[in-house]
Amino acid sequence: MSTLLELSGIRKSFGENLVLNDISLRFPQGSATVIIGASGSGKSTLMRCINLLEELSDGQILLEGSDISAYGINLDSVRGKIGSVFQAFNLFPHLTVLENITLAPRLVQKKSKDDATVHALSLLKRFGLEDKADAYPNLLSGGQQQRVAILRAIATGPKVLLLDEVTSALDPVLIAEVLALIAELKSDGITMIISTHEMGFAKKIADSVVFLSGGVVCESGTPQQIFDNPQSPELRNFLGALHDAGRL
Ligand code: ADP
Ligand code: MG
Repeated sequence: MSTLLELSGIRKSFGENLVLNDISLRFPQGSATVIIGASGSGKSTLMRCINLLEELSDGQILLEGSDISAYGINLDSVRGKIGSVFQAFNLFPHLTVLENITLAPRLVQKKSKDDATVHALSLLKRFGLEDKADAYPNLLSGGQQQRVAILRAIATGPKVLLLDEVTSALDPVLIAEVLALIAELKSDGITMIISTHEMGFAKKIADSVVFLSGGVVCESGTPQQIFDNPQSPELRNFLGALHDAGRL
C-alpha cells in the first residue's frame, strides 16, 4: 500500500515540557492505525499536530508527499483533507444536524446548499440517522451525537480521519453503535488514525497499533504483535494494568 501520510521526526514541546519526541510514522492509504498509551502519553497532542491545531516544534508532516507543516500553508485546504473528531461532542449546539454536516462543505469547499444537503442526507440515511436531520444536537443521545460528528468530519471527503477517544464519554450500548459506524467507514477505504481505550475494537479494526509512552513510539506492529507478544517492559506494564482493570 502506498503511503498517504508520513510523520518525520516530530517534536512538540509546551514550554520546557517535551511532549512528543522524535515521532516518525507512516500511514498507508486505506489503513487503520490505532494509537494506544497511558493517559498523558501524547496521543491527543499527536492528533492535534497532524491536523495542524498545534504548531510543531520540529519535524515534518507529509500528506501525499507534500509538506503540510510548512510555514504559510493554507490551513483550510489541509483541514478539508483531514477530518477530526474528539472525545467531547463537538457539534455546534445552535445548528441542526443537517446544518452541522453541511457547514464545512458550504463555507470551506464552497459547495451549493443543495449539493451539500443532498450529500449530507445520503450520509444520514446510510447510517440510519435521517430522521434526525432537523433535530438540534441536545435532543440526540451521546452516541447519535458522536455518529453525527463523525459524519460531519467525513462530509468534506477527507483523505484522513482522526478519531481521538470518540467513545470515552459514552455508555457501553452507545459505544457499540459508534464503533460499528467506524468499522463501516474502514470498509469504505478511508485512512484512519484512532486513539481508543476499547482494546477489543482496536484488535479487530487495526492494521497496525502504535504504543506511545512518554511521548515516544515505544513499540508498533500488528495487533497480534502488540497485544499477544509485547516486547518492552512499558507495553507489558500497560497491558497488564488494562488486564487487571478487566479492560483486556
Ligand atoms: P494523552 O492524549 O495521551 O492523554 P496528551 O497529548 O493530552 O496525552 O498530553 C500529553 C502531555 O502534554 C501531558 O503531559 C499534558 O499535560 C501535556 N499537554 C497537552 N496539551 C498541553 C497544552 N496545551 N499545554 C501544556 N501542556 C499540554
Ligand atoms: Mg487524549
